[in-house]
Amino acid sequence: MNTVDARYFDGRSSRARQVRLSVNNGHLDIVGDDIERRVPLSELRVSEPLSHAPRVVTLGDGAFCEIADNAEFSRILAATGHRDSFVVAWQSRWRGALIALIGLVAFLFAAYRWVLPAAAEYAALQVPLAWEERLGREATAFVEKRIFSTTQLPSERREALINRFDAITPEDGRDYAIRFRASKIGPNALALPGGMIYVTDALVELAPDDDAVLGVLAHELGHIEQRHLMRRLFTSAAVGAAAAVLFGDVSTVLAALPALLIDLDYSRAMEREADLFAVELLRANGIPTGSLATLFERMQQAHDKRGSQSDWPAYLSTHPPTPERIELFRKPAS
Ligand SMILES: [Zn+2]
Repeated sequence: MNTVDARYFDGRSSRARQVRLSVNNGHLDIVGDDIERRVPLSELRVSEPLSHAPRVVTLGDGAFCEIADNAEFSRILAATGHRDSFVVAWQSRWRGALIALIGLVAFLFAAYRWVLPAAAEYAALQVPLAWEERLGREATAFVEKRIFSTTQLPSERREALINRFDAITPEDGRDYAIRFRASKIGPNALALPGGMIYVTDALVELAPDDDAVLGVLAHELGHIEQRHLMRRLFTSAAVGAAAAVLFGDVSTVLAALPALLIDLDYSRAMEREADLFAVELLRANGIPTGSLATLFERMQQAHDKRGSQSDWPAYLSTHPPTPERIELFRKPAS
């Protein structure tokens, strides 16, 4: 017969009594110093096996036994066909697994929703200027080859616009350069890392006056000042970007660049930041923002006419200016 040593507590005093436990005919027999009990197995609760804790068998009346010899006790339990605790154990493990799974999904969601953009933003701010300039060179070569061709605007017109814009921009040490280009992408503008701002001939022709073009240039400068393209780039290439920052290799970020330029979509928040930057810059220089609103309305109409099948790449055209954005420029300065 299998027996195992245990310490018996009656549940009222802290006194421990040495007993021996055995299982016979569906009952647990407890025999020791001045004690002899016989309890149906169905009335027992058996604690989960933990590697360094004694197992505890609790009787219906609050008394319990502590068994130090886990291995021997498990053998006795198994011999009696003790199954309940396994079902309980399985159920609690299953529940635990489900909770862990839900926790994991919640964690991944939070990581994607909040941690990734924050990490991308942080990484974008850590990028050495030399990298940003290199990204800018690659991006410039790409768009010059694939998107733009020589401008048809008279050089006096271009120079006048550039001179007016230079006169209103803050001297904060950040460099930018403006290029006018003919393009199949319609009335559009684009800012690249390193400070290159592209404006299409079609946009200049669509603008009601030069103030509106200055507004678009200011909006694009806003994207540069806030490093929006770097942030977008790092979100879309987050894993590679993390590796790039850790290992000092910029090639993974560079690899993501053409795809991003083909299908650039800034978040609404980023567009709003750039809009606010433009409004502040124009107003600080006494330039009315109403004609920028008119230009946005015309771009909206042009976009609606071309429809969603438009073969224009993104930039300003995928997120046509919303009524809220136009409203911002219509509002009188307060
Ligand atoms: Zn924009």
